[in-house]
Parts: sequence; structure tokens; C-alpha cells
Amino acid sequence: MTDQTETFSDKLLGFTIPARNARGKAVRLDRAIDEILAAHDYPPAITHLLAEALVLATLIGGLLKDESGQLTMQAQTEGGVVRLLVCDYRNGQLRGYVDFDRERLTELGANPPLSALFGKGYLAITFDMAGGEGRYQGIVPLEGETLAEACEAYFGQSEQIPTLIRVAARAGENGCMAGGLLVQHLPDGEEGRERLHARMDHPEWEHVVALAGSTRHEELIDPALSLEALVWRLFHEEEEVRVQPGAPIARGCRCSAEHYEQIIARFPEEDRADMRDENGMIVIDCAFCSKVFEIEA
Ligand SMILES: [Zn+2]
Repeated sequence: MTDQTETFSDKLLGFTIPARNARGKAVRLDRAIDEILAAHDYPPAITHLLAEALVLATLIGGLLKDESGQLTMQAQTEGGVVRLLVCDYRNGQLRGYVDFDRERLTELGANPPLSALFGKGYLAITFDMAGGEGRYQGIVPLEGETLAEACEAYFGQSEQIPTLIRVAARAGENGCMAGGLLVQHLPDGEEGRERLHARMDHPEWEHVVALAGSTRHEELIDPALSLEALVWRLFHEEEEVRVQPGAPIARGCRCSAEHYEQIIARFPEEDRADMRDENGMIVIDCAFCSKVFEIEA
């Protein structure tokens, strides 16, 4: 590994293990997650769920080669306690919110499993390429113990890319800390989307899984452990590990009065008339920021 400024929190770290045809991302979110949570008043179970989802959105969004592309992760249910969870990531900007039934959540107790929160639901992962150049969406059922497992299933089923994901989150009096690691197998340097011979039991991938799978939760959320040191701990026996410091991560939303004015201006006057309230204003709320905008249109 080369000598450089180390990566601790609110930044992505990319790495590759060339001899194993593996690539990965690591991230730890600290301030970014507190800023996102500050717009809401979520109980601990929802805070924890959203923290994990934000880490996943960052890890997966970080795979986008194009900086203006966007990754959207959406978990939706039919009659679940969590009705909707949305996170998106674009060039280091991260946002997310959860729509849930507060009363029914209370009935579930302190640490409800994913199945209790979502019931019957699905996870949609959407990659929007820059400048409207394409959109890829994969949908998998929300099964397994964690959101991370559902994301692993997405990569296995929709992309045929063997993927290991570990996520940890901890919320305390001083705010929330969450971190994660994603590792993928791309044999023969294959980076395209057509993958006819992907194998989950490839020996070099099994080796990487054995190493990456030893990641401990505490390591992911230890603010004193740099992500480079974490990657080094896991893979130091490999002949070469290359790291690429990535984008800083911060809370980011596109909502603004000007933004909504522009959108509303595109509607015909007849539609705008229907949108106006008794005071002649069009009221729009941003669920990500819990903010209400009154547009005079
Ligand atoms: Zn907003």
C-alpha cells in the first residue's frame, strides 16, 4: 500500500486485489448520517435501519464510474410496518428517509428483525447513468436477516456478480456511526454487464470471502481505525492490494424553491390550478428533509 492521507469517516475508499480479481469499497459515515437523521425524529429501530441503508447506498453508489450517475435504493412493502425506505447517492451526495407506521412499530419491541419490519416487500436498486444515458433496475424480494443480505441477493441475481457485504451501525447519545464493506469478484478483469460464467464457488472468490468475512462489526464503526488499516488487516497476506481514496460523502438534497418552481412551470396552467390550495399556493414537501415549500405559481 502506498503512503497517503488515511481515510476515516464520511469518505469512500476503493480497493482492488488484482491477483484475486476482486474489487471493493469501504465507507464509514459519521457526520453525514447525523445530518440526515437530524431532519427526522426516528425511533432507534428506524434510525438503525436507515443508517444501514445509507451505508449500502454509498457502497453501491460508489461503484458508479460516472460521477453524475445516480444510485437509488428503494424498499417497499405491502402492508409492512415500514411502508417505504428510500436512499439515493450521487457523486458523494447522500440522502434518505423512511415512511413507517409508528404505532405498529412500538408493538414490535426493541430489535425487530427485517421480516417483521417489511413483511412482504421488495428492494429495487436503480442505476441512472449520466445525462439520461440509460437506467438499469434490478428488483429482489426483501428476504434474509438484513438489508445487506438483500443487496447481496441483488448482485447475485440481477448482475451475476458474486458480492459480499458487511454493514454495522450504532446509535448513541453522541449520534450515529455506521460503516460497511463491499467486495466483489470480477474474474478475468471482466467489468461488463454480460456475465455468462459467473460462479459463486470460484476458488479465488472463496478465498476472498474467507478473508473479508472475518470483518468484525466493531471494526467497521471504530472511528480510530482508518479504512486503509481495516483493508490491510483483512488482506495483508495478499501479494498486492491497491487502494484508491474516493469521494467525500455529505448529506445532499436537490430540494429548493427554485427547483420546484422550475418543475411546476412545466405543467399546463390547468394542472397548476388544480394544485393550488385555498391561498393560491402550491405546497410541496421534501420527505428527505422534512421541509415544506410553498410555491407561488
Ligand atoms: Zn430535500
